Amino acid sequence: MPPLDDYVRLLEGIWERRHLTNGGPLMVEFEGLLKKASGSDRPLHCVANGGLALQLTIKAMGLGGEVVTTPYSYVATTSCPLWEGLTPVFADIDASTLNIDPAAVEAAITPQTEAVLATHVFGNPCDVAALEAICERHGLALIYDAAHAFGVRHAGRSILDYGDASIVSLHATKVIHSVEGGFVTTRDPAAAGRIEWMRRFGHNGQEAYHGVGINAKMSELHAAMGICLLRQADAVFESRKALIARYLKGLPEIDGARFAFDLAADTEWNHCYFPVRFETEEQLLAAMTRLDAAGFGTRRYFHPSLDQCGLEGSAEASCPVARDVAARILCLPLSTRLELEHVDRILDAVHPPRSAHA
Ligand SMILES: *Cc1c(COP(=O)(O)O)cnc(C)c1O
Repeated sequence: MPPLDDYVRLLEGIWERRHLTNGGPLMVEFEGLLKKASGSDRPLHCVANGGLALQLTIKAMGLGGEVVTTPYSYVATTSCPLWEGLTPVFADIDASTLNIDPAAVEAAITPQTEAVLATHVFGNPCDVAALEAICERHGLALIYDAAHAFGVRHAGRSILDYGDASIVSLHATKVIHSVEGGFVTTRDPAAAGRIEWMRRFGHNGQEAYHGVGINAKMSELHAAMGICLLRQADAVFESRKALIARYLKGLPEIDGARFAFDLAADTEWNHCYFPVRFETEEQLLAAMTRLDAAGFGTRRYFHPSLDQCGLEGSAEASCPVARDVAARILCLPLSTRLELEHVDRILDAVHPPRSAHA
């Protein structure tokens, strides 16, 4: 949460203007600040949430048919294309990066494939060069679910500079948030133009329409929250970095547990999650029980893998790597309220009790 006074000050402006939503000045300001903070020159459009950001992107790019996508992500990565009438086809992940495996992507392409939708899971950049080459070779659109990746830089550029479009979530659980919110960046000016009007019911003035739209607007109250949090973004990133350094120092002491993925080379990470990979699911469940008893909430991001969710409309697939790792990964607590000694207590709880070895 930002300092309450900061938020109240912005609310006072909203009360004076009585402009609550429909592209208000705070939303416009927030878009400018997000663009500056992300370091990408691409057009950027705020919307009501990350899920709608993805749906609008699919719609604005005119995609249909099959989309090759990752089985290791939040359910939205599969459900949004399904909601838009596409058929998700799962391509398994790389066991070390946890991101979609470009070789599996290539093998999953059919004459019906129109796009690849890849998640930079936990903010770890995908193999962007390989995916770009595959999409170019096969004439496919390349969309990144960058829901976790705000603030990440890769090979000297913003992570949002890769692919045809990226969506970012600003949900309350994400590293920078606006309670609910999200945005799209795209390199295609025509798609960007459509997203701009599609997000507000297609209006072209009060009585004419560019086309069919939906309500995906970000309100002034949400934008105000986002602006407050963006002001303290550097402090948020620094505190997470320190917490993760502490986690990484203590983790090697624990048998059967390690940090879950190998970060892509030449990457400035945003320290958004601390996923731990256990050797077995039993170890994970036991650690989860001990953490719960010690009062620390954890999440099984992302379990089960999306190829196991049985969502109607996705192509039959079995992704053994994703299934295996999804069962063994647990995200440990990470927030600006957490202190370094909490990390030690959390790791103590992850640790099997000494008596178990006696
Ligand atoms: C959070 C998340 C989304 C959805 O974003 P919302 O803002 O909650 O709609 C999509 N994809 C991934 C990978 C996410 O983690």
